[in-house]
Amino acid sequence: MARPKDSFTTVILGAGAAGMMCAAHAGPGVLVLDHAAKPGEKIRISGGGRCNFTNMYAGPENFLSANPHFAKSALSRYTQWDFIDLVARHGIAYHEKTLGQLFCDSSSRDIIQLLRDEMDRAGATLWLKSTLDEVSHDGARFRLRVTREGQSREVTAQHLVVACGGKSIPKIGASDQGYRIAKQFGHALTETRPALVPLTFGAEAAFADLAGVASPARIAANGTSFDEALLFTHRGLSGPAILQVSSYWREGDAITVQLCPEVGFYDALRARRSAAGRRDLATVLTEWLPKRLAQSIASRVAPTLEGRGNLADLSDAQLRAVTAALGEWQLKPTGTEGYRKAEVTLGGVETGGLSSRSMESRVQPGLYFIGEVVDVTGWLGGYNFQWAWSSGWAAGQDIAAKTGAG
Ligand SMILES: Cc1cc2nc3c(=O)[nH]c(=O)nc-3n(C[C@H](O)[C@H](O)[C@H](O)COP(=O)(O)OP(=O)(O)OC[C@H]3O[C@@H](n4cnc5c(N)ncnc54)[C@H](O)[C@@H]3O)c2cc1C
Repeated sequence: MARPKDSFTTVILGAGAAGMMCAAHAGPGVLVLDHAAKPGEKIRISGGGRCNFTNMYAGPENFLSANPHFAKSALSRYTQWDFIDLVARHGIAYHEKTLGQLFCDSSSRDIIQLLRDEMDRAGATLWLKSTLDEVSHDGARFRLRVTREGQSREVTAQHLVVACGGKSIPKIGASDQGYRIAKQFGHALTETRPALVPLTFGAEAAFADLAGVASPARIAANGTSFDEALLFTHRGLSGPAILQVSSYWREGDAITVQLCPEVGFYDALRARRSAAGRRDLATVLTEWLPKRLAQSIASRVAPTLEGRGNLADLSDAQLRAVTAALGEWQLKPTGTEGYRKAEVTLGGVETGGLSSRSMESRVQPGLYFIGEVVDVTGWLGGYNFQWAWSSGWAAGQDIAAKTGAG
């Protein structure tokens, strides 16, 4: 029996953040394909269910890529302010949580609905529970074999946009198909690895008794540091500061933890020694640190204090040792929690093979890569969605212009 045949101007693989944004701007004749049962599943679970949809201070310096200049064009042509306008036009209430991070007041479902409305307005077709089994280019059009509702179909299109995201959280639909399509058409990939991910410390983790404790900290790895919260877990370290630094950490590297970086501990401890010398170190440290952490630090430095715990008994040199324990804590993670827990995938389709203006392939005209599948990875804080919006918009605009709809 002959397969049903469908012809579209543009097929977008992936109904996630970037794919839906692209569909809203790519002009008529767009089909969006996704193997999941619902669009935008990662948006739904993002930002603790409230979607940190952009960052007011987003700029190219907040992104990692083998080519740090690549993201500049798209980020400057579709900015955070453009997306904030769109959110406002849809009447979605939002707030700044911290550090320019904008979250929905109510639910991340508002952002999914916004994208669906924009796609409907543009007349895009959405096929869910559909898989792309094969793709080729015959010199004129892309030829795709798609299974939809158990039936195999042939789909042709002038443009193919790969928007199937990274490898993180496979249980909600992540796959490596975007990377495979890139390779098939002759694109190079940069190394991919889990990022924005908790760090683990193997059996040696001395933190098990601190699980659940949080503290402000400055965490550094490979010359980059972040001042945000640190969270101790049963398996290692997490919290925003660790997630941020995980994108810069490599196996074998140590990280440096500075607790409460805004506190000048040496001077503060000397002042407390003069004013309240009979208090013991752990008690004094609870002024700045949670009790369990203060006790753990005090017992860690205890051997260097020769059993003397009261501040009055401590010399300046000993106070310096305490300060070092608080400010230059060197730790060697053994690994990360992997794609199961990573918020994003670092690396991906090498940007040298793409136009930074349109995201179109330099190898295969009509082929585009957008969103997380590209080697552009944002910091924690709304930057990854901004890349999805900016790159999706850039590809959509280009396609619309080529088809006379721009
Ligand atoms: C728990 C969590 C929380 C996050 N919170 C935030 C946040 O608050 N702010 C922020 O900026 N970023 C956040 N991120 C990162 C952000 O979700 C991603 O960077 C962003 O969704 C990437 O957009 P994308 O369109 O490239 O990919 P995705 O949004 O992942 O979309 C890819 C789509 O492609 C589909 N797909 C994949 N493979 C196939 C295939 N073979 N066939 C058909 N369809 C396929 C998937 O089902 C999915 O719908 C979070 C990530 C996670 C995991």
